[in-house]
Amino acid sequence: MSLCPLCRSMEESVNHVFWECTFIKCVLEGAGIDGLFSSMEQNWDKWIANLFLSMQKEQCKRLVITFWAVWHHRNEVYHQGEKQCATRLISFIKAFYTKNNQLKLVSKTGVRQNEGAWTPPRTNMAKGNFDATYNSHMMSSVSRIIFRDFEGYILVACTYPNTFVIDATTAEAKAYLQTVTVAEELGFRNLVIEGDSLTVIKKSKHLKRINQILV
Ligand SMILES: [Zn+2]
Repeated sequence: MSLCPLCRSMEESVNHVFWECTFIKCVLEGAGIDGLFSSMEQNWDKWIANLFLSMQKEQCKRLVITFWAVWHHRNEVYHQGEKQCATRLISFIKAFYTKNNQLKLVSKTGVRQNEGAWTPPRTNMAKGNFDATYNSHMMSSVSRIIFRDFEGYILVACTYPNTFVIDATTAEAKAYLQTVTVAEELGFRNLVIEGDSLTVIKKSKHLKRINQILV
C-alpha cells in the first residue's frame, strides 16, 4: 500500500486523489468549484461523467485545469518531495484560468490575427509551433506545442508545465527546447519550427541539433 503523498493519511488511488482526498476537496473549493460533492456517486468514473454532463463549459474548463494542476503537483511531491500549500496551488489555477481566457480573447478580437495566421510548410515537411504562458508570481510556465503536416493536419499536440522559470524569455526558450525534443523523439527530420520570441529564435539558430529550418 502506498500512502497518498498529498494528505499522507489514506491509501493512494485515482478515486482518492481526485475525489476523496482532503487536499483535492480544499483545492476545488478554493478554485471556485463548489457543490461537487453534494450528489456522490458510487465511484469516481460515474461522478466525473455526470459532472461534465451537468456543468457549464467554463466550469468544466476550470475543473480540468484543477485536476491537471493537482496531478502535476502530486507528481512533484512524489518524485521531488516539494509540497506546496493548497493556497499557492489555488492561486496558480486561478492565474492559469484567467490567462487562458485572456489568450482566447486576444485571438477572438483578432488583435494578433496576422501574426497568428498559420502558413503551411513545404510539401512533405512538418511544422512545429510553440509558445509559452508565463506566470511571474509563481515563476512557472506552460509550454504549448503543436506539430502539423503540410496539409494542416495535426500530428501531435502537447503541453509541458515548468517550474522555477526566471522570466518570460526563459519560458519561451524552454518551450523551444521542448519542441525540438518532441521532434527528435518522434523522428521528424524535415521540419520548420516557429515561435514568436525573436530572442529565442535568434539564439537557437546557432544550435542545429537536428536538420531543421527555423522561421
Ligand atoms: Zn490524500
